[in-house]
Amino acid sequence: MRAQERRVVETDRRHIWHPFTQMKDYESTDPIVIERAKGVRLYDSRGRAYYDTISSWWTNIHGHSHPAIVRALRRQSKILDHVNFSGFTHPYATELVEKLGQRLPDALCRFFFSDNGSTAVEIALKMAFQYFQNRGERSKTRFVYLQDSYHGDTVGSMSVGGIGLYHELYQPLRFASYQVKGPCGSGCRHREAEWSGDVADLDCALDCFEPMRELLETRHGEIAAVIVEPLIQCVGGMRGYPAAYLRRLRALTEKLGVFLIFDEVATGFGRTGTMFALDRAGVVPDLLCLSKGITGGTLPLALTVATERIFEAFYDDYFSHKTFFHGHSYTANPLACAAALASLKLFERERTLERVCETSAVFREGLRGFWNSDNIADIRYLGLIGAVDVVKSRSEGSAFPSKVRAGWKIYQNSLAAGLVLRPLGDTIYWMLPLAVTKKDVRTILQRSLRVIVDTASGLQGGGEGSPWVP
Ligand SMILES: *Cc1c(COP(=O)(O)O)cnc(C)c1O
Repeated sequence: MRAQERRVVETDRRHIWHPFTQMKDYESTDPIVIERAKGVRLYDSRGRAYYDTISSWWTNIHGHSHPAIVRALRRQSKILDHVNFSGFTHPYATELVEKLGQRLPDALCRFFFSDNGSTAVEIALKMAFQYFQNRGERSKTRFVYLQDSYHGDTVGSMSVGGIGLYHELYQPLRFASYQVKGPCGSGCRHREAEWSGDVADLDCALDCFEPMRELLETRHGEIAAVIVEPLIQCVGGMRGYPAAYLRRLRALTEKLGVFLIFDEVATGFGRTGTMFALDRAGVVPDLLCLSKGITGGTLPLALTVATERIFEAFYDDYFSHKTFFHGHSYTANPLACAAALASLKLFERERTLERVCETSAVFREGLRGFWNSDNIADIRYLGLIGAVDVVKSRSEGSAFPSKVRAGWKIYQNSLAAGLVLRPLGDTIYWMLPLAVTKKDVRTILQRSLRVIVDTASGLQGGGEGSPWVP
């Protein structure tokens, strides 16, 4: 067993290039070899268990290797593995859009398949752009996105990304878009609590909407669409914001003839407590992007869902040149469709959202307790998503110098404690699989707090703290 593990690590070192990873970091530590997973736990080659506290990059929903999804995949692989999706259709795609349609607002009724979140975003952007081209409104070519937003890593989705660390270098490649100062969450003067908590229902003056209003009112003639992650900006630090912002944005975009794109790649499928963030916001966008949780975390699949009005602008004789010339080899892969259908059925059979209502209450209470530590500067949560900012000392207002890489060290130490606390800078977050029990939640939070506090106290000698801005 040990020899095999060695071989995997050595071959990995020699030949593999991992995503979002400075490979040099693996000079001093080995990547962990995960051999299997069951429920909300991952097991490495030495048999050690880890809580999958980030749902395997935000994809897992019902736990790993859920028998119902395994059965559906086994059945499907014997019937139809894959076939091209132009000229052909299949019952696995049609049943999926039927079932998913029942969960979505009626206006979102045209489904375009692809296979990852970035691509679902690319497709939404191209659809919004071509809608106006097809209708002869040639000036509407630009997009608006929020500061700190993340919509994927392909060049188009990067062009509407607002995270300097990932996007600045590629500036010469990005198409011109408008970045708008994001809605406030933590640090908002309208907040009542010391920490952000769940700000989705915050009733405030929404001064933060002003930059958006000003831009749209002056430039709507050149703007095709505004794209947002509804209710919570995830990669940007799990920053929640009021649903009222989205309602105001919807009213204004509708009035000015600008499309609204909801990127629910991260928030879809129960993550925030409702099936989709749009349910809680009570807002219907013109385009909706889904991926990550769609197959319960088993296979890649994505959907861009459009309104009939958008679809109609492409519907004409072939030589009108209005066709949407876009597609991918694995469009509507039947195996992925079967997994997605099985996952949707589980939401009903296992009353997943009702259980999330209970487990997220325990999660919320547990997270609030983190405030007792002086190393915690902000606490925020929404459904089973949570985050805390880790600092040197809240009372003294000092953060860790970034060269200390506190978040990274917490991640390393969390693995030894049987957890996966992947950092976003010095923000530590949880994106729990919806299958966690209350007991899992308590154990995860107890261990997390211990890892954070122990790591932070071990770093106290790490030089002057840089000023911490709340
Ligand atoms: C992860 C993510 C994406 C990109 O999805 P990939 O499948 O990783 O390409 C896009 N938008 C949001 C909001 C995401 O969280």
